Amino acid sequence: MELADSELLRTSAYIDGAWADAHDGATFAVYDPATGVEVAQVANLGEKETQVAIEAANTALDDWRSRSAKERGAILHRWAELIRDHADDLATILSAEQGKPHREARGEIVYGTSFVDWFAEEAKRAYGETIPSPVADRRNIVVKQPIGVCVGITPWNFPSSMITRKVGPALAAGCTMVLKPAEQTPLSALALAELAERAGVPPGVFSVVTTDADGAPAVGRELTGNPLVRKLSFTGSTEVGKLLMAQCAAGVKKVSLELGGSAPYIVFDDADLDAAVGGLLGCKFRNAGQTCVSADRILVQDAVYDEFVERLTDAVSGLTPGPATGKADLGPLIDEQGLDKVRRHVEDAVSRGAKVIVGGSQPELGGTFFSPTVLTEVPRDALIMHEETFGPVAGLVRFRDEDDAVSIANDTSYGLAAYFFSRDVGRVWRMFERLEFGMVNANVGGMGNEAAPFGGVKESGIGREGSKYGLEEWLEIKSLTLGGLDD
Ligand code: ADP
Repeated sequence: MELADSELLRTSAYIDGAWADAHDGATFAVYDPATGVEVAQVANLGEKETQVAIEAANTALDDWRSRSAKERGAILHRWAELIRDHADDLATILSAEQGKPHREARGEIVYGTSFVDWFAEEAKRAYGETIPSPVADRRNIVVKQPIGVCVGITPWNFPSSMITRKVGPALAAGCTMVLKPAEQTPLSALALAELAERAGVPPGVFSVVTTDADGAPAVGRELTGNPLVRKLSFTGSTEVGKLLMAQCAAGVKKVSLELGGSAPYIVFDDADLDAAVGGLLGCKFRNAGQTCVSADRILVQDAVYDEFVERLTDAVSGLTPGPATGKADLGPLIDEQGLDKVRRHVEDAVSRGAKVIVGGSQPELGGTFFSPTVLTEVPRDALIMHEETFGPVAGLVRFRDEDDAVSIANDTSYGLAAYFFSRDVGRVWRMFERLEFGMVNANVGGMGNEAAPFGGVKESGIGREGSKYGLEEWLEIKSLTLGGLDD
């Protein structure tokens, strides 16, 4: 891997301000999903080292939380700036372990810094309140304080921005943080730690514990079970999220969970079809469809169905999969397991009567690449309608009217993102209110910025990231009562 700054490629974990190997020297391999070639061997830590990181976070807490928000913010702004300065190298590292095109990886890196800068400012506004007391000689005051030692567990699909979206607000609020990145993509996390150190984040305030898939449950048990830890922030599958939430219940630790989705993408007959097609290209094929807000169920109204299929087919036929360093529009799937799921979803839909219009199989590149795919006439009971596909497969379903669309869209245990396209202002407002999702988007296929709250309802999660609401996740409300005011 060619980097301008080779110090960014770190393979040891980062604990208490020092690079640390496993106590037994164990390592695990990180592979480039585009080639299957090993990129690095990374320290494979266990619960012992995790405990040390948590204790360091606890020791660092007093100093960190007693600094002013302005001082913490200045360090975080420096971190964001360093990340942007090294965006090319960070994108090279990210693409090598995750597979997305370099241009897209760079976009993620820069997007990730928006959270660091936002919260560096927002924490200065963690205002309290004075409350008129019902008792004459007393005063009631509310202050907001950092929760304390926090832990984060992050996924492989956004190896950089899912970390800055947690660590940015946590540190800005005055918390300290131990982070476990996904086993597929630890290098991006370690590069962020290197830059955090250069920015002046003190030892113990931010540690990164790396472990492989087999080690994750034990490390996870320590992170959720250690009594010093006050909060878990997790992004990943609903299944693992439920397990971690249950583990946190024993110590009544706070949780923020950003879990799976099954986003409906609804195209009404009065939609701007070009905007709907353009929106879907990003929403469905970005990161090869491996995002929790990817369109999973594309519902198109009868009257525009055929025309939408035609325009979408043209657009999708122009998308090229390939390795990150070339001009590809999308990279490979993360691993064989991901590829199997996508294949299974396509086969299932076809066996139930769906038609393959574009793609439907692997391109000549082989490996874990899958061709951008359009399926039409997908039956409502197909797997693709009920499980996250996490791949570049657009499955189209017909619907009759607004009620029909709402009932299909809400027929899921997930509630993360929903999209619809309509130019009727009454319908736009009704749909905003009727769709049971944490983020509802009209006439856009993308969203997510540091100023808007990101998060789901139902089994898609708890809590919000980004925005002024995102800061609250890292703060506790403390009620102060001052009595004895009478002479
Ligand atoms: P995905 O299916 O996207 O890989 P996962 O929920 O399996 O999603 O993984 C998200 C994160 O959760 C990763 O960092 C992974 O290592 C971690 N993880 C998986 N299982 C556990 C577990 N039992 N305890 C703690 N972390 C886990």
